Amino acid sequence: MSYVITEKCHGERYGLCAGVCPTEAIFPGTYQGKDFMVIDPAICISCGACAVECPVGSIVESEDMDPVYAKINVDLAPQFKANPKATPRSKDEAPKKPGNKLK
Ligand code: SF4
Repeated sequence: MSYVITEKCHGERYGLCAGVCPTEAIFPGTYQGKDFMVIDPAICISCGACAVECPVGSIVESEDMDPVYAKINVDLAPQFKANPKATPRSKDEAPKKPGNKLK
């Protein structure tokens, strides 16, 4: 099982999760023209650190909780891996995406 980055991150991307991941399983990129991050399920050890770090709660703890985005994460991971690291935003910064709220 792997954690999954969901639709809340798509067009939001604080990028803080990648900095706390002990296995460097999280990669940034652009999906459908918007900033996003994905988790490579082959590298994730399900420690949960990323989910705690995300200011808008965009990360769920298993593929079963969001199968659609689980597939998007696994499909995009190979291409996102080559991208440079994203510059993180402050966790106090207001969300960009309508509907997202700080935890
Ligand atoms: Fe990395 Fe842990 Fe999040 Fe998996 S659950 S992506 S290992 S921080």
